[in-house]
Amino acid sequence: MLISDVVALAAGRAPGAPALTFESTTWTFGELHAAVRRLAHGLAGIARRGDRIAVLAENNVEYVLAYYAVPLAGMVLLPLNYRLAQREIADLLADAAPTVLITEAKYLDPARHAADAVPSIRTVVTVDDVAGTTPFSGLVDGRPDTEPEGADESSPAWLIYTSGTTGRAKGAVLTHRNVVAGAVNAVLSWPRATEERPVTLVPWPLCHIAGYNVLVAHLAAENVVLLRRYSTEGFLDAVHRHGVTGTTVAPTMLEMLLRHPGIGACDTTSITRIGYGSAPMPVATLREALTRFPNAGFRAGFGMTELAGNALAHGPEGHRAAAAGRPELLASAGRSMLLSAARIVDDEGVELGADEVGELEIRGDQVFSGYWNRPEATAEAFRDGWFRTGDLARRDAEGRFAIVDRRKDMILTGGENVYSREVEDVLHQHPRIAAAAVVGAPDELWGERVVAVIEADGEPDLTEREIREFCAAHLAGYKCPRQVLVVDELPRNTAGKVLKRELRERVR
Ligand code: ATP
Ligand code: MG
Repeated sequence: MLISDVVALAAGRAPGAPALTFESTTWTFGELHAAVRRLAHGLAGIARRGDRIAVLAENNVEYVLAYYAVPLAGMVLLPLNYRLAQREIADLLADAAPTVLITEAKYLDPARHAADAVPSIRTVVTVDDVAGTTPFSGLVDGRPDTEPEGADESSPAWLIYTSGTTGRAKGAVLTHRNVVAGAVNAVLSWPRATEERPVTLVPWPLCHIAGYNVLVAHLAAENVVLLRRYSTEGFLDAVHRHGVTGTTVAPTMLEMLLRHPGIGACDTTSITRIGYGSAPMPVATLREALTRFPNAGFRAGFGMTELAGNALAHGPEGHRAAAAGRPELLASAGRSMLLSAARIVDDEGVELGADEVGELEIRGDQVFSGYWNRPEATAEAFRDGWFRTGDLARRDAEGRFAIVDRRKDMILTGGENVYSREVEDVLHQHPRIAAAAVVGAPDELWGERVVAVIEADGEPDLTEREIREFCAAHLAGYKCPRQVLVVDELPRNTAGKVLKRELRERVR
């Protein structure tokens, strides 16, 4: 099955059903399917099979068309994060060497600069048909609505760079089979909508793997409401205008929603499903969200770019068990999903038993085929056919996994392991701390010392002593921060993830 077969399937069953709502326009599955096929033919006129087609744009309808049509034409979609600096964009383009760059007026300057520096780029396309560029509409209009040849299940479909949270972003090569398996796993493992007209809000940027929620929703024949880019106002407005019934969010988005002054006045009762993931969810935030959205069933997911989506998940039953006396389940990432397998191993790759902390490994059709241009990183990422996530986790006796920390974020102080996430969870319980990140700083005496960087809620009148005393009441002494820094804002990437490598450099 090809990625675009998801649209073909839905169009075959109900061509008139709504597929995509963007700003004030709604496309049916039939319209979407025809436009995808036309664009695939248009692309065949300007690029060859296997070529990378880069996209530097905020979310829009043309982006969704490219999402499906580029792989259908046997080419590889390369979504770029528009928030990166010009230099970073140029580096990624030089690495991936695309022949076509699709962009929009707003990003034409950085796109042109990059194109000048990257000789492989022969064509610059603009979705808003800017003069002097190849107009996107010309690649669609008048092209045949027939199935083009070119792709098979094992062709590379998407080249998505990881978030670059721990170091230089790596390009994960995902084939049609990987992407379809990731989406099928999501649909099978999570209860889908029971409403007659499910409306799924996708607030993620399509440059991030979480954009695959468009594909997941289309596989379930749901109407996707897409935001140009995330804002809390835009999110709430979309819920109100389109009667959104389900969504998936990053923890930061949920925090922003809960802190938004207008949230109390906004009717969000239409929402019956909220998925969350992509980064650790602070338990305090989740608790508040469960009360704020009482109509919604919550679903946790653990995923990675390399996994073309999620591989661990649990739904409302996990949250109900938490409410019924198992509060530790609020920190759980769920069970292994139906089409993938998960295990915990020690440094030698020997599988560990229940409740032991080790590295999480995943196997399944959704696991990527390797990193672009990085044979060594690819070789390191696999052991005995399993993909090494780089995350430390434990599994309980019932098969539920809890992510403990990233291996690279664990702090070694005075011979003891400190999981940054455990300390962050305590800090998040403090009423005047809006967000916190914990990193290790080199220390002559201890090897590393625990440093907390804090975003205060309101007046930053928190003292270091107060924070340390708060931690000491909840944590062993060696886990408590030895140094506390208060900042206006933590450095974050487009997916809202705190960039700890930047913090580490700052506290150094
Ligand atoms: P890079 O690999 O470039 O450092 P990244 O790992 O942040 O960036 P992504 O693929 O976007 O890039 O994110 C995957 C990571 O996100 C996982 O390895 C894990 O650390 C984290 N993550 C995802 N879901 C969860 C979750 N539910 N709970 C905790 N952490 C999560
Ligand atoms: Mg990673």
